Amino acid sequence: MSDLPAETDFFIAELDAAVEAHMNWTRRIVRCAVLRSTPGEDVLDPLAHTLCHFGAWFMENRAQFNALEPEAAQRVEAVHQAMHDAIRTICSDVLAGRTGRSEDLDEFEASQAELISLLASFKTLILSNAVRIDPLTGLPLRYNVENDFALYQKEARRNRSLLYVVMIDVDHFKPINDTYGHQVGDLVLRHVANTLKQGLRGDEPLYRFGGEEFLWLLKCKSAEEARKSARRILASVGTTPVPIDDDETLRLTITMGLALAGEREDLSSAIKRADMALYEGKQSGRNRYVIAEP
Ligand code: GH3
Ligand code: MG
Ligand code: MG
Repeated sequence: MSDLPAETDFFIAELDAAVEAHMNWTRRIVRCAVLRSTPGEDVLDPLAHTLCHFGAWFMENRAQFNALEPEAAQRVEAVHQAMHDAIRTICSDVLAGRTGRSEDLDEFEASQAELISLLASFKTLILSNAVRIDPLTGLPLRYNVENDFALYQKEARRNRSLLYVVMIDVDHFKPINDTYGHQVGDLVLRHVANTLKQGLRGDEPLYRFGGEEFLWLLKCKSAEEARKSARRILASVGTTPVPIDDDETLRLTITMGLALAGEREDLSSAIKRADMALYEGKQSGRNRYVIAEP
């Protein structure tokens, strides 16, 4: 097993198996042609594309394919069916003692090649998404934060607006793990991530920075607006307890460190200042935000 989440591993294993099974069709057709033996009853069924293991699995997981690349997902469905249709025509001709048509062979070869290349590109997509997205919270990891920061910094310069780098850390999170177990800890992290996401504007990215820390790029027009946003986020976490059982909820708080990014400041320098402000917030009692010195 790899370090990837189990679902990703299963998904990749299914795609690998599908590539192998559909490559194998060349050999099965040759055997049918040479030996005049049926390649299997299901192959001759008009719904063969839904009976094959991959076909059934693909339809069950269609939503996931759609989320990754809807047009390619549609193409997989079409070429997979075209391939099975061609196989059925070729094998039916052979078994009836008829000479097959070259167009059917061409169709088989073209759809087989396209299907295999589509499955390979889905594999690449899934692997690259798996390293960019945190499987626990669904938030992006810090992978792209440098790019986003540079973009927003430029936008802020152009619009004469402000960009804050905000480090968010859940207060007293370790005791939650220690008291209720790691799984409840995970549930709490997912809950905090959702509460934060719902409180932010759609174009303000939030990353899982590590452990129980999140990074937020806050865009605003003034320091007062930044303070208002920070207060709102603090309140939303503070007033959204986590249901951990049928009759138990946990109240949570967070502490935030805000650093106004300089027009030409590096992200790492802004993060360092936000981290120092966060530390100050922890020292002075938590459940608050602190704005770093420029
Ligand atoms: P503070 O208020 O000072 O931030 O205290 P804290 O207990 O929140 O902070 P501390 O840094 O001592 O503990 C963070 C804990 O978060 C320790 C680590 O085991 C836990 N943790 C990190 N990542 C995960 C995760 O993905 N799932 C779970 N369940 N726990 C995690
Ligand atoms: Mg921490
Ligand atoms: Mg903490």
